[in-house]
Amino acid sequence: MTGTEAPALLSPVPDEDGAPFWEYAAQGELRVQACAECGELRFPPRPCCPHCQSFDSEWRRMSGRGRIWSYVLPHPPLLPAYAEQAPYNAVVVELSEAPHIRLVGNVVSAPDARLDSVDPAKLRIGAPVKVAFTRGPDGTHLPRWLLERP
Ligand SMILES: [Zn+2]
Repeated sequence: MTGTEAPALLSPVPDEDGAPFWEYAAQGELRVQACAECGELRFPPRPCCPHCQSFDSEWRRMSGRGRIWSYVLPHPPLLPAYAEQAPYNAVVVELSEAPHIRLVGNVVSAPDARLDSVDPAKLRIGAPVKVAFTRGPDGTHLPRWLLERP
């Protein structure tokens, strides 16, 4: 590892249902699976609509804006690469278009910044955030969150 390189963090392991989420992320798009029959958005991705039981789905582009619904500040014991950046935040973001859709992630100061790049004192429940994507060491593009008013 070089001096400025971020330590290796865990990467997602996409499954068949979730693969499109990561493919759109690689294009810088936050998309959520929607039922092609009734239009209901659902997350995490899965084969069948829980509202109308349709197996037809599409991927709808989101604005990438949301609000912090909840957050925690993990402290050791943590995996080594995470312990090196602790304390950092882990947030649950509710999407503006669909508050019942909530994604787990991290609020950072810039797309490629360290997990501890935002002072935890700046985090508030309800704070507006917007998505940004960074390319991980394995090539996966990860959604992260930036404060709208840092
Ligand atoms: Zn449906």
